[in-house]
Amino acid sequence: MSFEQRRNELVDRLVARENLDPATEAAMRTVPRHEFVPEGKRNAAYADRPLPIGEGQTISAPHMVAIMTDLLALDPGDEVLEIGTGCGYHAAVTAEVVGPEHVYSVEFHDELAERARETLARTGYGEVSVLAGDGRAGWPEHAPYDAAYLTCAASNFPPAVVDQVRAGGVLLGPLGDGRQVLVRALKGEDGSLERDRHGHVRFVPLK
Ligand code: SAH
Repeated sequence: MSFEQRRNELVDRLVARENLDPATEAAMRTVPRHEFVPEGKRNAAYADRPLPIGEGQTISAPHMVAIMTDLLALDPGDEVLEIGTGCGYHAAVTAEVVGPEHVYSVEFHDELAERARETLARTGYGEVSVLAGDGRAGWPEHAPYDAAYLTCAASNFPPAVVDQVRAGGVLLGPLGDGRQVLVRALKGEDGSLERDRHGHVRFVPLK
């Protein structure tokens, strides 16, 4: 079976289970996850589970990327900040929804950032911007963002990231030091966060 067939079968299963937004479904059908995982792991690229990507880090399971994309409810042209580029797969899914030139992603490990840039360029998402650095500082040059999300777990949304999201914008990420909960927060005009919880999750910790 081709990678494309396997990807479509995976997305068929996700759609049956999660009732995904059409934009999320289309993005999941389009982005070639096998191109983002290490070469030796390609055969497992369309199983619904996380995979190691080097530096002790993992690419999230496809259903988690789909759920997070749904929760952000992005529109084309929205400006999005991602903390934790990893291999770049999640950034590519986001890019399918908003357009690659609207995605800004910060990765702690130089090596991963460089590899993600290469993979994104090779797969047609070269306009996604990747910065090697500490995501706790966000990426102020491109603020304000309509949305920001973390792909690594923190005890709370980093204050700089909250500052860089516009009023009315949305934040999403796994929060908690031990047990993590996927939390979405709507930022109010006064800077306050109105949170809702979306179940227990397991992500690598933010550094
Ligand atoms: N979205 C990624 C999954 C990444 S796993 C993908 O699709 O592959 C989480 C990533 O967050 C790891 O690559 C890790 O290095 C990164 N990370 C951890 N702490 C960070 C920090 N303080 N700033 C930026 N990135 C961080």
